[in-house]
Amino acid sequence: MDNKCSKYESLFVFSDDETLKKHLEECEDCQKEHETMQKVSDLIGEVKFYYRKKQKKVLNFKVACAMSLVLFSSLSFGIIASNDDLVDTLRYGDSLSAEDLGFPVDSYGLLMVDE
Ligand SMILES: [Zn+2]
Repeated sequence: MDNKCSKYESLFVFSDDETLKKHLEECEDCQKEHETMQKVSDLIGEVKFYYRKKQKKVLNFKVACAMSLVLFSSLSFGIIASNDDLVDTLRYGDSLSAEDLGFPVDSYGLLMVDE
């Protein structure tokens, strides 16, 4: 089984739909792989939908928290603006990322749908 075609992945990523389709028509190995991929992506779609529905309320709550945090921070900044040390900390300290604002993020720092 050493001569199994391994083009599917590179065609899928680097070439256009036409080229991939053409190759699928004449290559059984890639056809099988394509069917598997299709099933997997269907499955992922279903799971994502389910989690989105389930997590929506939690996410809304977290967005509300993040917004109050931002609001509170800007109010505090106005009050303590005369204190140089604190201003420096606010200016040059940790910059707020999505994670700091209480959003669930993955290892790329992107927002996650589920936790
Ligand atoms: Zn192939």
